[in-house]
Amino acid sequence: MKVMKFGGSSVMDAEKIRNVVSIIKTEAGKTDVAVVLSAMKGITDDLINCAKLAEKGDDDYKKALAGISKREKTTFIELIGSDNEKEAFESLESMLHDLGEILLGVKMVKECSTRSLDLISSFGERMNNTVAAAYMRSIGVDAEYVDARELVLTDSTYGAAKVNYKESYKRIKERIDSIKGIAMITGFIGANKEGVTTTLGRNGSDFTASIIAAATDSSVVEIWTDVDGVLSADPRCVNKAYVIPEISYQEAMELSYFGAEVIHPYTMIPAVDRDIPILIKNTLNPSAPGTIIARNIKGHDNPITGIASIKDVALINVEGSGMIGTPGIASKVFGALAESGINVIMISQASSEHSISFVFRKIQAERALDALNRELGGEVESKRIEKFVIREDLEIISAIGDNMVGTPGIAGRIFSALGDAGISILSIAQGSSERSVSFVIEKKHRDKALNTVHDAFLS
Ligand code: ADP
Ligand code: ASP
Ligand code: MG
Repeated sequence: MKVMKFGGSSVMDAEKIRNVVSIIKTEAGKTDVAVVLSAMKGITDDLINCAKLAEKGDDDYKKALAGISKREKTTFIELIGSDNEKEAFESLESMLHDLGEILLGVKMVKECSTRSLDLISSFGERMNNTVAAAYMRSIGVDAEYVDARELVLTDSTYGAAKVNYKESYKRIKERIDSIKGIAMITGFIGANKEGVTTTLGRNGSDFTASIIAAATDSSVVEIWTDVDGVLSADPRCVNKAYVIPEISYQEAMELSYFGAEVIHPYTMIPAVDRDIPILIKNTLNPSAPGTIIARNIKGHDNPITGIASIKDVALINVEGSGMIGTPGIASKVFGALAESGINVIMISQASSEHSISFVFRKIQAERALDALNRELGGEVESKRIEKFVIREDLEIISAIGDNMVGTPGIAGRIFSALGDAGISILSIAQGSSERSVSFVIEKKHRDKALNTVHDAFLS
């Protein structure tokens, strides 16, 4: 069996859905397949936007909701017509009705918890899989809508729920085994043990596909998207970026962690566990070979494999003479940040022990400063630590590759290339795996920095 996942850009309208279904049909003639679909491109953003407007008490949420409703129903009618698959159309209408009621509730109480937001976000995948499964049946392909909330058991960390693999695998196997035709499974969503809807994080449908593949012992999980594979850099910033034919799980994990959104970083977790290769394919160019992500891959001679970047980050530098030889400051800093729910993306400490800097999402800047002032205010007052200075509008860039392990001098070459290009670096960190070197620059230098490193190593 194989699992095929199609992302939002591949299923964004009726024509794209037709194309995807023809790809599924071809594969289903050769082997058993289970399918995972995302919401149509933009729908999850629209749903979140509706929730935010309703929370503010802004009636404009109704316009946004009408837009979602129109897009979903038009797609249904374009694909299936209005006389066919009546039950599925009613189910679509009932979801849109429920969504309206939930948003009205949010507007009334002027509050949208992360729990409500997960429920609201879940409609995109539910509606899209309902439509696609109905379309498949209407053209004679045996397909069944499957709501992943019945399969993927998670904890209650809304917005980034953690998966209970053991129980989920059991439920998935049982359910998929019982389905005769093609299962059309909602990506991105799950439920906690009380049955409350959760989501696995933005872009999480890739992860769902990998969970399904592991549970069913599939021979491959295919992630179908709108580019020819994993590229050496984000093609929107680097013209010369090229497709990497094969890449290791670790490299893919690092690249996606550092911003290559072509695959969600967690996708690699179930795949590594069961040694299932991941194949990235292009729905607009299905005959292209794509990229294989696997354990044993053919290597290459470049010192690095790819580069990626994370935007909208901020940096805080904690420094002061009181830090030298004083154990426990780092633990206070990171303890306080963790308590406030701040996700630290990158850490670097000067070898003089005189300063630690760390990088996190810019939207968490205020919360980060509050946490530090609460925990280390005393040290600042006694001048053991200097006042916290925050720098915003930054970008993390990361060069990644298995060939960096044990090869000296690569970081030096990266930084001298950047120096020659006149780009100053605010902080540097190397992953202890030696598979990545990351550095922080001002956002305005992003494209130049990416192209400089790409030209120096990957052309
Ligand atoms: P989907 O809707 O299929 O989930 P995404 O938009 O999440 O697709 O991911 C695909 C996009 O990721 C591509 O269109 C590309 O612009 C972007 N991208 C960023 N970095 C990379 C990279 N290194 N390789 C390939 N694509 C990348
Ligand atoms: N629809 C969700 C999102 O936009 C999940 C996904 O597309 O993978 O984040
Ligand atoms: Mg995606």
